[in-house]
Amino acid sequence: MAKITKLDDIVSLCKRRGFIFQSSEIYGGLASCYDYGPLGVELKSNVRSAWWKAVVQMRDDVVGLDCSILMHPLVWKASGHTDKFADLIAECKKCNTRTRVDHLEEKFAEQAQEHTEHVAIDVAMAKAQDLTNKVCPNCGSVGRFTEPMPFELMFETQMGANVDDSMTLYLRPETAQGIFANFRNVLDTTRVKIPFGIAQIGKSFRNEVTTKAFIFRTREFEQAELEFFCEPGTDEEWFRHWKEARFNWYIGLGLKKENLRFREHDADELAHYAKACVDVEYRFPFGSGDWQELEGIANRTDYDLRQHQRGMRTLNKWFENDRDLTKIELSNEAEDYQSGPLSYFDDEKKQRYIPYVIEPSAGIDRSALAFLVDAYDEEEVRGEKRNLLRFHPALAPVKVGVFPLVKREGMPETAQNIYNDLKKYFNCFYDEKGAIGRRYRRQDEAGTPFCITVDGQTKEDNTVTVRERDSMEQIRVSTDQLLSHLREKLDL
Ligand code: ATP
Repeated sequence: MAKITKLDDIVSLCKRRGFIFQSSEIYGGLASCYDYGPLGVELKSNVRSAWWKAVVQMRDDVVGLDCSILMHPLVWKASGHTDKFADLIAECKKCNTRTRVDHLEEKFAEQAQEHTEHVAIDVAMAKAQDLTNKVCPNCGSVGRFTEPMPFELMFETQMGANVDDSMTLYLRPETAQGIFANFRNVLDTTRVKIPFGIAQIGKSFRNEVTTKAFIFRTREFEQAELEFFCEPGTDEEWFRHWKEARFNWYIGLGLKKENLRFREHDADELAHYAKACVDVEYRFPFGSGDWQELEGIANRTDYDLRQHQRGMRTLNKWFENDRDLTKIELSNEAEDYQSGPLSYFDDEKKQRYIPYVIEPSAGIDRSALAFLVDAYDEEEVRGEKRNLLRFHPALAPVKVGVFPLVKREGMPETAQNIYNDLKKYFNCFYDEKGAIGRRYRRQDEAGTPFCITVDGQTKEDNTVTVRERDSMEQIRVSTDQLLSHLREKLDL
């Protein structure tokens, strides 16, 4: 049975070692926003690179994209976000705190049941039960709630300096729509043929009602999304393919299998666009150790491309109505929509159709948290507590620590030379301060897989000590073999 790590331990290590800080801390902090410090920025960039490597670099059927965060407002009308991307909330009449209706607990509920999904607002409305028995999580009053009401999750902003060209825009709540909006561009400029995917990593923003648990749910976060376009009828097979590929990605990067599972969505839980959806869940250490969504994999059918064809037909209406989304309805679908501007022509089958889409959608911050939690360990070594992060080498912020045993007899110079050589290949850290044991412990806590120490013997036989983080085993390696030795061990 895996040890359950307390979130507090992770938060404190992250702060102490410069992984993650509260945003705007010098001004008292900004709720639910976080900054990544020197070690955190490396970790996060390694998570991104590992995703990109698996999803784009290693495949012949996926290309990348990087879209702007601000997009045409009709994108969000077509995608359904301006009408449906809201949480159902109720306000406590006693303390005025607003809570998501699906987060409210029954008075006599035995245990807190946290549902973390945003459900389509119409489904939520239909399900919004009687709130008379529900407890306010802030003040504890029972049944003092207002009628449930929708709360918009998209952040609005204004663009343009002049009255006649300024308009309301939204910070994107997901990166996926930028991919759909560029589907035609990618088709026209590359040689991709269906089945193929377009991948993107970037920031998304949601004005979440409840944020919680450190970087698990924040209002600004990073997503890694793939839209994989396939022929209708092959979608279920591709769904299975991506489900397995994404699960294995986490395992391959060291997440313990017993902390990872799938959760299939019930039919009434499915988002309005999805035919099937499965979450990859991780056992996060909140409360007594809860299973929570790490990544969602959805079969979005041909919904989005069809919707954007409708969006394109709505453009004139939008101009005629002072570019005000609230005054317009999306145009109907053209009868011959299967041959519309976002359709695909299959050269071999001489067929035109709107492709189906399988979407694995992961969170970079949420994955980084899962990797941190899973790697965190405490053990006792010779009567002393040792904290360590057992990161997979690909994720470790620093790959190699280089130390002189003492600050004399030419050891610092030799160690510096080794450090200067190795840093061309991996992220290294040079340290000559303090007792060697303490230097090792500091690197253990940062998750550094290997430490190299130059000592008295180095001058005699050109060997150094290579210490492995997890086992603490030390071997001697000759300096001219050092790079190949480390490359092999780190698999870099
Ligand atoms: P949740 O209900 O947990 O917010 P969701 O089902 O609305 O998730 P998706 O829209 O499927 O989330 O987003 C895909 C992924 O993006 C999630 O699995 C998660 O890893 C990440 N993500 C979504 N919202 C947030 C957030 N507020 N903070 C951090 N990561 C997020």
